[in-house]
Amino acid sequence: MMDKIEHIGIAVKDLKKSNQLFAALFGEKHYKTEEVFSEGVKTSFFKTGLNKIELLEATNLESPIAKFIAKKGEGIHHIAFAVTDIKAEIERLKKEGFTVLNEIPKKGADNKLVVFLHPKTTNGVLIELCQEIE
Ligand code: ZN
Repeated sequence: MMDKIEHIGIAVKDLKKSNQLFAALFGEKHYKTEEVFSEGVKTSFFKTGLNKIELLEATNLESPIAKFIAKKGEGIHHIAFAVTDIKAEIERLKKEGFTVLNEIPKKGADNKLVVFLHPKTTNGVLIELCQEIE
């Protein structure tokens, strides 16, 4: 079962500029930045009340974020849901016919194990499942 929306990921071209833009929008600065080398991204996180927004900038041309922006431009990239047992969730979703992009959860930003579902099987929405690393 999936829990609440953990965060919404937004692809941006220039993290520095977007940090300023979203700080102006939310009335508060981002509370952390982190580079995820395996994904070729630099991220920053904002809190808006109970919600969390992740900005993602590509650090190389092979990064999924670079490809996304080349195809669709900046904008909402994924919706992440919190789960408590990511492996059980992967099995359940596979049985339901969803395509899991990485069957072995990988370490994402913000101390999480993450898995993505192929947007072809989720009405065009890239879904991330994430489980807090204890
Ligand atoms: Zn994310």
